[in-house]
Amino acid sequence: MAKKTRSARETFRVPQGGVDLSAIDSRGGAIGPKGKAKAAKAMTELGARLDARQEALYASAVGGSSPRAVLLVLQGMDTSGKGGVISHVAGLVNPQGLHIASFKRPTPEELAHDFLWRIRKQVPGAGMIGVFDRSHYEDVLVVRVDGLVPESEWRSRYERINAFEAELDEQGVVIVKCMLHISPETQAERLAARLDDPQKYWKYNPGDLDARAKWTDYQAAYADALANCDTDAAPWYVVPSDRKWYRNWAVAALLAETLDAVDPQYPPTEFDVEAEKARVRAAV
Ligand code: AMP
Ligand code: MG
Repeated sequence: MAKKTRSARETFRVPQGGVDLSAIDSRGGAIGPKGKAKAAKAMTELGARLDARQEALYASAVGGSSPRAVLLVLQGMDTSGKGGVISHVAGLVNPQGLHIASFKRPTPEELAHDFLWRIRKQVPGAGMIGVFDRSHYEDVLVVRVDGLVPESEWRSRYERINAFEAELDEQGVVIVKCMLHISPETQAERLAARLDDPQKYWKYNPGDLDARAKWTDYQAAYADALANCDTDAAPWYVVPSDRKWYRNWAVAALLAETLDAVDPQYPPTEFDVEAEKARVRAAV
């Protein structure tokens, strides 16, 4: 009997009851295409599916009154491929329906507010697919590792993040959170590649090596964030990201399955189609 293929959402969902990232494969291959050529073919199909679903999502909000939006949160160490996912996965849908926000080191104005202040301003509106390149999770990752606020403060943020995400869920924002999981060896190769290619120098930041030196601390901070903030309303997925084509396929599959579940519907017409056809024929 043929084995039922597990969905991307089942396969990549963060394990329940404690996360040990070093035990999670960063190469991937449990499901999905076995090589680059097959992945390219799968991406063409996923692209058509995403594009169609995105258009219906947009139509259901703009032409109808659906409050639904999708928010893809991307987190990962430097070189894990957040930018690559934006171009290769988000790039598969109509740019008019995308809202992309990158979160850098907070400005003095942002720091003067609660950590969710700048995040709330970027929540995608109805009908949109939002993509966060880094997110409110930085406030329990770099902020924790670099000791930018006291422990009591960052510890209190897990619950506040869960409350915030539950609030978005109630508003109709469907959240998909992807941690792009790479091995330290892959990061070393990619950082070295940035230094070998003058056209990649702009991506290289000497400060990235400071974060790399704290790899173990970062992995521990990620493990806690994933374990504490994985909810059914806003699930965390660990995406094997050592191979770019597998990473892109996996995020596209997660997004497509999520949109399939949302199943956005085109709004019903509010006019008589036949009468309008006759008017078009009669006009001028
Ligand atoms: P990049 O994504 O490579 O352009 O780098 C953005 C930088 O901003 C990274 O080093 C992040 O760790 C940093 N960053 C993002 N959000 C925060 C935050 N809330 N607090 C401190 N640093 C942050
Ligand atoms: Mg960077």
